[in-house]
Amino acid sequence: MQFHENGFHAGDPRISQAAPDREQAQGDLPPRLDVLIVGSGPAGLTLAAQLARFPEIQTRIVERKAQAMTLGQADGVSCRSMEMFNAFGFADQVKREGYRVNETTFWNPDPDDPVAIKRVGRVQDVEDGLSEMPHMILNQARVQDMYLDVMRQSSSRLEVDYNTRFVDLHIDTDAADYPVSVTLEQQHADGETREIKIQARYVVGCDGARSAVRTAIGRQLKGDFAHQAWGVMDVLADTNFPDYRVKSIIKSQRDGNILVIPREGGYLARIYVELSQVSERGESRSLTLPALIAKAQAIFKPYQFEVRDVAWWSVYEIGHSLTDKFDDVPVEAMESRLPRVFIAGDACHTHSAKAGQGMNVSMGDAFNLGWKLISVLTGRAAPSLLHSYSDERQAVAQDLINFDHRWSRIISAPFAKDTQEDGTPLFQKHFIEHGRFTAGLTVKYADSALTWTDRHQALAPGFDIGMRFHSAPVVRLADAKAMELGHTIHADARWHVYAFAADEDPSNPESRIARWCAELAQNPASPLRRYTPADADPDARICLYGIFQQAHRNLDFETMPALLRPHKGKFKLKDYEKIYCADTYPARDIFSLRGVDRQHGCVVVVRPDQYVAAVLPLDEPAALAEFFDGVFFVSDAK
Ligand code: FAD
Repeated sequence: MQFHENGFHAGDPRISQAAPDREQAQGDLPPRLDVLIVGSGPAGLTLAAQLARFPEIQTRIVERKAQAMTLGQADGVSCRSMEMFNAFGFADQVKREGYRVNETTFWNPDPDDPVAIKRVGRVQDVEDGLSEMPHMILNQARVQDMYLDVMRQSSSRLEVDYNTRFVDLHIDTDAADYPVSVTLEQQHADGETREIKIQARYVVGCDGARSAVRTAIGRQLKGDFAHQAWGVMDVLADTNFPDYRVKSIIKSQRDGNILVIPREGGYLARIYVELSQVSERGESRSLTLPALIAKAQAIFKPYQFEVRDVAWWSVYEIGHSLTDKFDDVPVEAMESRLPRVFIAGDACHTHSAKAGQGMNVSMGDAFNLGWKLISVLTGRAAPSLLHSYSDERQAVAQDLINFDHRWSRIISAPFAKDTQEDGTPLFQKHFIEHGRFTAGLTVKYADSALTWTDRHQALAPGFDIGMRFHSAPVVRLADAKAMELGHTIHADARWHVYAFAADEDPSNPESRIARWCAELAQNPASPLRRYTPADADPDARICLYGIFQQAHRNLDFETMPALLRPHKGKFKLKDYEKIYCADTYPARDIFSLRGVDRQHGCVVVVRPDQYVAAVLPLDEPAALAEFFDGVFFVSDAK
């Protein structure tokens, strides 16, 4: 974490100085907004927390409920979401507070006693080397609290407007500015409900599965409506079930299936009890808590399961459904119209809770949209960039629905059909095969101006173009700090360019990296010069890093290319955090781990949402310029 750049500030460095017009409480909703977010679930808050870092963007987030969530709903935090939380600065807090999923066990009916269950498998939950981040379990309400803190501590001091319900919107496609007219209803302390009218440049519906924003733009969730109901309860219980503190999937002979998810704090556990298929929506609502507990007790047999307290319970009844597009522009009008209204999260896709993806994919949608809105609203990129949100995330959601269909069938399959010839239960085999998917690490964006998937991959096969940047260990040259290279990325809408040096002496001005840096610094066509505003820090839009093969003790910071030692801020202080070395322990060497071409080096371009955009040759600085010319507007050049 870097701070004091513009002068010493006492106190908690996570709390940014309030922007001049944000020193007072946020006040009433203004008549005009740049971005109106509807709904303060995981999707809405992921978006709001990003936008909050930009006080020049007028953002508000409205929520129909009276206050922040305290209990219930989703709890699985995938490795990918943890990587994203790290960019927001609260992954460590989730690690401290949450339950870390280390292993998963599988239980089937005992062949010697079919009314009892028996453990048939035990596997490591996350494959080694998949991510530096663990799979965690933490109440959705606590995750949301952490986002609310990020918003409050930002220079915007953004707060949620509770008791405020989105009613309807109208888009004037001919209006150049503030084309979306929104009607809201606000519940006041005196019991009165008042209507509010707002004009917005953009509206984002993060308002859940029954999204009113989705309805307002004429989109529908389409899918199967053979609803599957799950009873879910967060309990404090006494049991002799031996895997109670391990994530477990249990299939009984006659009574159905259970997922046991140990929860944060050491005592709490979430129990998902599969209920029979419901033909009519809402049919399962007649289910009572005692009936749910009795069903769980029957499945746990021969183990006793005594519930002492229930913190939250619900019957979660859901089908698989998806909208065809995540914005207001029909496919046939994409050439002529720009998107103004977006939907994200459960508003676009619903699926079972069995693979723990609901909160994760919803946050992923909003992380994808956030930097694009910021880039357009701060004048860095053309508004046509916003078309890419629906293109990219609709495909991800389609994959999720396909996966969830398969996984639901496996989990719900009656026990008899379940075992493979080699004796491994099918649900265990499927779980291992799809570990990368459930960790959130299979998303791959297609070839586009934002992801050049079709070239130069061979220079660094371990940095898959279109997939999330797979972090690896490095040592920071200036202070010998061993750390993860991916942790240089923050949720601040900046691009990252990692230049992996060839096996040469970087202090030699003729080395590839020195020549590449000199070209970027001097050529007026260089993206650093073209797209960095004249009065901004050199890394205001694009952060450049050098990664070297030499051990950190064999390089001298002051002889490294000057571009990697930029001077920043009010006092033009040197930034010491742009140069990294490979770890000397071979199993932790980033060049080996990611297959970086040692002879030629390479350049890895990473998007603000941590996805690899391009791998480029080090001796072709023009390729970097060409890439960014496809992303940025030419602004006030240096
Ligand atoms: P949501 O979390 O649904 O957030 C939408 C927000 O928008 C809500 O706060 C809502 O009050 C607000 N809103 C809605 N309409 C309006 C409006 N007109 N105006 C203003 N605000 C509005 N997932 C699991 O993995 N496991 C579970 O056990 C599980 N249980 C669930 C139980 C319930 C009752 C629900 C609703 C969901 C559950 N989920 C569960 C799903 C998981 O919570 C979601 O996938 C995830 O929260 C999606 O995030 P989101 O931000 O898209 O939507």
